[in-house]
Amino acid sequence: MQIEIWTVKMNKNPYEVLGVARDASDADIKKAYHKLVMKYHPDKNPGDKTAEEKFKEVNNAFDILKDPQKRAAYDRFGDAAFAGGNGASAGMGGNPFGNGAFHFDMGGGAGMEDILREAMRGFGFGGFDGGGRGGQTAQARGRDLLDEVVITMRDAYFGKMHTVKFASNVKCEKCNGYGTSDGKPAPTCPRCHGTGYVNMQRGFFAMQTPCPECNGLGHKIDKKCSECDGTGAVHKNRTIDVKIPAGIEDGARLRLAGQGEAGVNGGPAGDFYLDVRVKPDNRFERDGANLIMHVDLPFTTLALGGEIEIETIDDKKLSVKVPAGTQVGEKLRVRGHGMPTGRGASFGDLYISIGVVIPTKLTEKQKKILTEFADTKNAKKGWF
Ligand SMILES: [Zn+2]
Ligand SMILES: [Zn+2]
Repeated sequence: MQIEIWTVKMNKNPYEVLGVARDASDADIKKAYHKLVMKYHPDKNPGDKTAEEKFKEVNNAFDILKDPQKRAAYDRFGDAAFAGGNGASAGMGGNPFGNGAFHFDMGGGAGMEDILREAMRGFGFGGFDGGGRGGQTAQARGRDLLDEVVITMRDAYFGKMHTVKFASNVKCEKCNGYGTSDGKPAPTCPRCHGTGYVNMQRGFFAMQTPCPECNGLGHKIDKKCSECDGTGAVHKNRTIDVKIPAGIEDGARLRLAGQGEAGVNGGPAGDFYLDVRVKPDNRFERDGANLIMHVDLPFTTLALGGEIEIETIDDKKLSVKVPAGTQVGEKLRVRGHGMPTGRGASFGDLYISIGVVIPTKLTEKQKKILTEFADTKNAKKGWF
C-alpha cells in the first residue's frame, strides 16, 4: 500500500488561543479577543516576531469563533474543517467514522465559504451532482475520506501501526463496479451515443438536457447486478491498517491512494487521508528532529562538573558528562538521540537544557563550608 506524507499546517485550537472555554458566550469571546489583540498589537510590539505571530493567531481564532457557522463547523470537525492549503471542501454525507471525522472532497480551489456550505449541506453518496445534470452523475471519482489519530511522542519515535475501522462504499466485486449482471461495462446508450446529453429544440433555442434514456449516464444497464442493484458500489465495513512512519511530525497527513470511497459508475476510488497529531510529551519537547529535555542539577555539579544519568525517549539509560562551570540555560548536546529524521537511519540530537536546584535546608556543616566559600576572594568579586 502506497503511503505519501503530506504536511499540513493546522490551525491552533481557537478556544485555546483565546483562552476561553468551549461553551464561552459571544461576549466572553469578544472580551478575550480585545484583551489579547491589544496585548499583541504590532504598534505595541514593534519588530517582535513572536507578538506578530500571536496577533495573527488571535485574529484567526476570533475569525472562527465570532461567526456562529464557522464556530459550529469547528466544533463539529475541528481543524479539519479549516485545513487549508489545497482547498479541501468538507461534506458530511453518511459519516463513516462517527465521531469527529468526516468525508471531504479535494475539489481544488474551494474557499472557506464553500467548505462551510459543504459542511452544512450534508450530502450523501452519489448525491453530489457535478454538472447539474440532475440526480446522478456519469462516471465520477469516489470521495476522499479523512480521519485523524492522536499518538504519543514515543509512538512518533518508533512508528506505529494504526487500524481504522469504518464503513464506506466500495467497488462491487461481483460486477467490477459496472453495475451490470455480467460484470462487463454497460453498453453505450443508443440515444445519446454515450455523451449523456441530448439536444432539445425549445422555440428558437437549442438546449442540451440530460439524456432521458440513460439519465445522463451515457450507458444503459439492461440487467442490473443483483449485489449492488446497478450502482456498482456496496456499503461495507472496512479495516485499513496504516503504517505511521517513525519520526512523523505533528500535523502530518498520510495519503493512501485509492482507499477512499468507490467511484460512481466505474469511476476511480477516492483516496484515504489520515491526519496525525502528536501529543505533547511531559519529558521531551520537540524541535524538528531534535528533542529538548529539561534537567535540574545541584549547583555543585554545575560548578565542579560531573556525570548524570538520563533516560532517552527510546528508554535507554545514558550517561552524560556535565562540564565544570556549566551555566543555567546552557544546552548540552547528545548526538543522535533525537527523533528519526525519516531519511534512512539518521536521527536528530537530544539537547539537555540545564536548570539548577538550590538547597533550602542546609546542615550546620554545609552552611559553614558554603560560608567559607563565599568568603573566598573570587566569590566576593562575583564568583568567577
Ligand atoms: Zn443516453
Ligand atoms: Zn454489482
